[in-house]
Amino acid sequence: MRPNSLHAADIAHMVHQQTDLDAHGRDGAILITRGEGCRVYDTEGKDYIEGMAALWCASLGFSEKRLADAAYRQMLELPYYHTFSGMGHAPSVRLAEKLAEIAPPGLNHVLFQSSGSESNDAAIKIIWYFNNLIGRPHKKKLIGRLRGYHGNTVAAASLSGQPLMHLDFDLPLSDRFLHISNPNYYREHTPGETEDAFSARMAAELEQLIEREGPETIAAFFAEPVQGGGGALTPPRGYFQAIQAVLKKHDILFVADEVICGFGRTGNRWGSETYGIQPDMLSCAKQLTASYQPLSALLISDRIHAALIEGSRKNGRFGHGFTYGGHPVACAVALETLAIYEERDILGHVRAVSPVFLEGLEALREHPLVGDVRGVGLIAGVELMADKAARTPFPVSAKVGQRVQDACIAAGLIIRAIGDRMAFTPPLIITAAEVQEMLLRFRRALDDVWAEVQ
Ligand code: PLP
Repeated sequence: MRPNSLHAADIAHMVHQQTDLDAHGRDGAILITRGEGCRVYDTEGKDYIEGMAALWCASLGFSEKRLADAAYRQMLELPYYHTFSGMGHAPSVRLAEKLAEIAPPGLNHVLFQSSGSESNDAAIKIIWYFNNLIGRPHKKKLIGRLRGYHGNTVAAASLSGQPLMHLDFDLPLSDRFLHISNPNYYREHTPGETEDAFSARMAAELEQLIEREGPETIAAFFAEPVQGGGGALTPPRGYFQAIQAVLKKHDILFVADEVICGFGRTGNRWGSETYGIQPDMLSCAKQLTASYQPLSALLISDRIHAALIEGSRKNGRFGHGFTYGGHPVACAVALETLAIYEERDILGHVRAVSPVFLEGLEALREHPLVGDVRGVGLIAGVELMADKAARTPFPVSAKVGQRVQDACIAAGLIIRAIGDRMAFTPPLIITAAEVQEMLLRFRRALDDVWAEVQ
């Protein structure tokens, strides 16, 4: 590595996020310099198909000029303003109006922040505030799922079920954060157990937890319709129906974390639509702006919003706000993104290309490394197994997922190893031909790793 090169400066000064910092100190990072459609290019000019849409987010790829123009226009007109103290600006109002129009039923109120983590963090605060205001001061505990991913603020990381986000960070923050099992049917079902029976078992586990803790102490359940950071994992059949029945029985709120699923990822506008979820609040971000600007939105039900108004009658000002929440440039980019989704019928495109994607991955089941494939729309996970007949995983120390991820990089494909589950979430604009090319590169990587491990 040349001294003073970009890579040397990166090692010397950058603290990378969610990265093995020791390995980074030795190996350095792949630095991406530009993007075109579904591809990105590194400092050496090597091209990669972005099979993850970066962080499950660049829905319109990496060169959508209309979004750059929308940002530039807004920067010239009003580059910044806030929404504190009854002030505001047109882009945030127009976007809130649009989101209320397309939201799942009853979610008519929108709180803007800049990230998915902040949105979930705000949801947690609002749940606590809400229950205090309606006279349930003991109903405060929150249930997430093991391997669930809800972000990195102290509260959102506590809610997440990711060991590395807790270990040595002194998290979860308190005993208000509880977790139930990860519904990975393939890995966890008992011999002969159907998906429906597995879902019923997951719901029974939830109910046991609620009864053990006392239903009067449990405020809300958070779930991603399709788990992202937990492995691009679709729920087993009947899962959310069974879970929702338990929550309704005990008057527990459902917060849908649609930070990945929102805006077409699952083949419907919302993952909640795909799985029949009726959320009380919904977090969305990422594809809201195609990630050309940082923005998230917490969609809030009429019932919860009414309590917030009560809160102001009691306390005065709603005591929550971020400087950049609902930034006008981000809101202008979001409005343009949503317009593009409609004009280009991106949902129709996802539905058309999804079978090519899912059937192509399904065909890899015959590969000796592939134990399971699950997906919906344009999100899927491929589970690697040492012995698929016996459902025996590789030892963690073999780092097989990481090796497949590295082989993909060598083959010009960026996907994510989550343990030994390979996650795919390409940009929503990916064409059938690009899907085929992505699958070819993936197969090549699988073959390379199989040649080493067999
Ligand atoms: N929720 C889910 C489901 C996510 O996947 C993520 C990030 O990947 C977050 C929340 C956190 O969003 P952010 O990174 O914008 O804070």
